[in-house]
Amino acid sequence: MVSRVVFGRGSFDQLGEILALRRPHPDAPFIFLVDDVFRNREDIVGRLPAQGPDKVLFVSAAEEPKTSRVDAYRDQIMSEYDVLPAGIIGIGGGTVMDYAKAVALMLTNPGSAADYQGWDLIKHPAVYHVGIPTLSGTGAEVSRTTVLTGPVKKLGINSDYTPFDQVVLDPELTRGVPKDQWFYTGMDCYIHCIESLTGNYLNAFSKSYGEKALELCRLVFLEKDERDEESADALMMASWHGGMSIAYSQVGIAHAMSYGLSYLLGTKHGVGNCIVFDQLEDYYPEGVREFKRMVDKHEIHIPRNVCAGLSDADFDKMIDVALSLEPLWENALGKDWKSVMTRTKLRTMYERM
Ligand code: NAD
Ligand code: ZN
Repeated sequence: MVSRVVFGRGSFDQLGEILALRRPHPDAPFIFLVDDVFRNREDIVGRLPAQGPDKVLFVSAAEEPKTSRVDAYRDQIMSEYDVLPAGIIGIGGGTVMDYAKAVALMLTNPGSAADYQGWDLIKHPAVYHVGIPTLSGTGAEVSRTTVLTGPVKKLGINSDYTPFDQVVLDPELTRGVPKDQWFYTGMDCYIHCIESLTGNYLNAFSKSYGEKALELCRLVFLEKDERDEESADALMMASWHGGMSIAYSQVGIAHAMSYGLSYLLGTKHGVGNCIVFDQLEDYYPEGVREFKRMVDKHEIHIPRNVCAGLSDADFDKMIDVALSLEPLWENALGKDWKSVMTRTKLRTMYERM
């Protein structure tokens, strides 16, 4: 679990105080990985408590995080400093937060990030790392994974060392998120809730978080007519609770298939989940109906025909990636899932998207 968290409008200003207690050596830098959408935003960059040896690296979130870029950031940091960084601070959406987690892990674990894609392969604790979300929904701020695309697969580094040591939840930082992005990433949270609450891995612990997150998603996406402070606060809490819910259970079919889309087509996680979930009425009937009401209410465009024109080899690759995520299928369909979800069935489903 994340051991420390502060929440509140303006809490970003506490970052300096928080970090001051964590510098073991005057030469040890804090490395700020900041979403490059904020490059010219003084209200964020102007408030970074960077000093002395510290460094601000702007990170593009245009593509999903890659193991090769994690390795490159790690190598860049190691070549510039003689001491290990005092900490890595990730400020952005799921993409930048995942980079921060992965770079913190790879500073203390040898080899490539690709060597650790899987469950519990990490051997050594990461350097101190802090997550500061600027976009709500993924739950990356609270999860024990950092989702990476590597040379052969899209799979997270899931480990007890992955979660942040500190999270700063300041809903003011989500101001300015474009509406479609707000919706797609918010739906990531909604889909986490539906997949967790209807799954076989559900237990009382994950249920308590999933139900709270679902209630908050309904407030934000169905009851409220505008994106105001209450809605931003609620969505940040929903993201956290949705992340906690899946941390103790699992996601399901939408995520397995969305990973396939993203591996082959580079489709980003939030919109990819929406493209898939839109077609999953047979598996999540109530959830998909409610999702469609949210899409209509906010007049959101969900891309269609994204699989038109793909070759057999393309479909096979997507199917391989999706089927490799066995825990997700077992959570959704039970131990016997392989007899239900055949390659032919999956291909038909992808062809509809
Ligand atoms: P994102 O981080 O990719 O950002 C999407 C877009 O929003 C980017 O263009 C970014 O620059 C912009 N943005 C972010 N904050 C903004 C702000 N305040 N104002 C204006 N623009 C802003 O989107 P995401 O949906 O948060 O993250 C998706 C990533 O998260 C995927 O790579 C996915 O694999 C990962 N993910 C991780 C976990 C986990 O548990 N680790 C869970 C779900 C998803
Ligand atoms: Zn997700």
